[in-house]
Amino acid sequence: AKEQGRNNYEFFSEEMATANFELMYLNSALRKALENEEFVLYYQPQVNSLTGKIVGTEALVRWLSPDTGLVAPNRFIPLTEDTGLIVPLGAWILKKACLQMKTWLSEGIELSHIAVNISGRQLSDKNIVRTVRDALNFSGLDARYLELEITESTIMQEDRYISVLHEFKALGIRLSIDDFGTGYSSLSRLKHMPIDKLKIDQSFIKGVPGNKDDEMITQTVIGLAQNFGLEILAEGVETQEQLEFLKQNNCHYIQGYFFSKPLPFNEIDFSKR
Ligand code: C2E
Ligand code: CA
Ligand code: CA
Ligand code: CA
Repeated sequence: AKEQGRNNYEFFSEEMATANFELMYLNSALRKALENEEFVLYYQPQVNSLTGKIVGTEALVRWLSPDTGLVAPNRFIPLTEDTGLIVPLGAWILKKACLQMKTWLSEGIELSHIAVNISGRQLSDKNIVRTVRDALNFSGLDARYLELEITESTIMQEDRYISVLHEFKALGIRLSIDDFGTGYSSLSRLKHMPIDKLKIDQSFIKGVPGNKDDEMITQTVIGLAQNFGLEILAEGVETQEQLEFLKQNNCHYIQGYFFSKPLPFNEIDFSKR
């Protein structure tokens, strides 16, 4: 038994060494990718549910690796959060997104905002407000066109994040709570947060119409937004039935494959209704 235990241990440590090696390898590849500008932003339209008009877009990063092709953010963002690489990568994303929005506006495309995701690791960086301000100055984009998406669970992690939100607000930036409904926020804290929009998490939209719990949660979150005077957007809308349910329940904005998947900047059809 002892022998076997020892073997198991060796087996696991070898496996762990391999895993560590792979992470180290990926980490160095990501650092090089940032230097070589191998990241690209895709943009997913956010649409008025009644008119079908595109009101804004959400920037979503991808890694265009010369070795493996297009890599989804779930496969590298968590590691960049662990290593801190998300801080310089996030600064690059902010600049790129603000520049794109500035370009769309100068082309006469009437959008109210571009949304950029900000992770907890970015919020905890002491220079985050300056980083955002620099991106606005660099691009010449007016702050009111930038919306920052922060997940509900991130906001609830640290009390002092609320004061960072107030600093963003003071710059004139829009704030939205991402993945809302999954993060156990208390309503009394929500009341004191300087936010403009709630995004209902896609896990609830998956169940509507049909699943009574998901229907009830979706309706409750919409009602909550109405009572707090916030905009409300449903994520992950894939079907006509979901759209109809959301329209009937006064959800003003939708985002999802039903309208459009995330696309490169030049593939979005802004004339689509
Ligand atoms: P998220 O911010 O919640 O983004 C929504 C995700 O849902 C995106 O995945 C989007 O492509 C996907 N999606 C949109 N519509 C639908 C739909 O109708 N059905 C389904 N099944 N999925 C849909 P993506 O682009 O792979 O991004 C995954 C996550 O990676 C994001 O979740 C966000 O947490 C993170 N992420 C992406 N880009 C960035 C970024 O620039 N910065 C940071 N910090 N995180 C990012
Ligand atoms: Ca988001
Ligand atoms: Ca989300
Ligand atoms: Ca998410």
